[in-house]
Amino acid sequence: MISARLLQIAMMIERNKVVFDVGSDHALLPCFLIENGISKKVYAGEIAEGPLQNVKQTIEKRGLEGKIIPVFSDGLAKAADDVDIVVIAGMGYHTIRHILESCDVSRYQYFIVQSNTDVDMLRAYISEKGYTIEDEKVVYDDFYYQVIRFSADLHDPYSDLEIKYGPILLKRRDEVFLAYLKQTLDKLKEINVIAKKAEIAEKIAEIEKILYKDNV
Ligand code: SAM
Repeated sequence: MISARLLQIAMMIERNKVVFDVGSDHALLPCFLIENGISKKVYAGEIAEGPLQNVKQTIEKRGLEGKIIPVFSDGLAKAADDVDIVVIAGMGYHTIRHILESCDVSRYQYFIVQSNTDVDMLRAYISEKGYTIEDEKVVYDDFYYQVIRFSADLHDPYSDLEIKYGPILLKRRDEVFLAYLKQTLDKLKEINVIAKKAEIAEKIAEIEKILYKDNV
């Protein structure tokens, strides 16, 4: 079974599409998508020789030749023309941004991105480009992760609050999102007992407003 994080990503992928998984490592997501009949073909992209060998071994071991295609590629540089959906997960914001900047985002139906760092900066980038955030989920998998689905369809810039917390997450107020905010709030309060910083106090007030005043 795959992790809750990868499962959440898989759940955001429309059926019967061709997927490119950037930085596939052991090809766990491509295997899940093919073995569960979710995708008709998945490209498993890798920039590093070691993980690419992992991908190839996994494909061979599971007999998924022709369904999962290993691709030695920096981001989408070597992506074939038939790709519909792109996944970029388990990397930091700067790597994800580099991958997005090096490709034609409008060529794909949508992207599913999961950054391990600076999710707000990733949303700010999506907003600056005028892209549309179509879906967002928070998933708990030892840590809280945010998974964002966006497309190149044009959208007005998002507000500062939406960039920080997520436009769809703020609207939907899912249980996991609220639990994530509560954990963040508790941590900030603990820090500010000693730090006593105005900007931390502001952030605490902002999160309390979202959590308890229901007026976003
Ligand atoms: N995507 C998987 C996941 O979410 O579990 C694996 C994440 S793993 C931590 C990151 C992988 O991305 C590594 O195998 C690394 O080699 C690969 N990677 C980093 N930068 C890349 C790039 N520019 N293009 C393709 N792969 C990249």
